[in-house]
Amino acid sequence: MKKPPASQLLTGSLETEFLTVSHMVYLYCQKHHQGTAICEQCQALLNYAEVRLDRCPYGESKPACNQCPISCYKPEQKAEMKAVMRYAGPRMLLHHPILAIRHLVKERKAFPKKPPVGVSNRAKRKSKIKN
Ligand SMILES: [Zn+2]
Repeated sequence: MKKPPASQLLTGSLETEFLTVSHMVYLYCQKHHQGTAICEQCQALLNYAEVRLDRCPYGESKPACNQCPISCYKPEQKAEMKAVMRYAGPRMLLHHPILAIRHLVKERKAFPKKPPVGVSNRAKRKSKIKN
């Protein structure tokens, strides 16, 4: 099976989260679309997910998406991602147990109702450029 490439944009737990979602989209695409490599539509969904993670106001303290009070996905992408999660979620334990368990732990973690200011990956990237 093809391995998803790492994010060039994200760091830390957001990078791990992107890797997790990448594996999930790959699993889903392999079963539902072309069968081997990732298709254009799924790659577009992953690109979208990467940007959402970059802009997530919670930054490194980001909750699991299904716990998050902010719905940052557009309806179309949200529906696509939901289908991916429904299929790949239970299969992740088998294919990528460490990533799957990390995600399950995250779902139980407490997080502030309101995100702090200036901690998104994007804000950090921008301040790094400034300095
Ligand atoms: Zn696909």
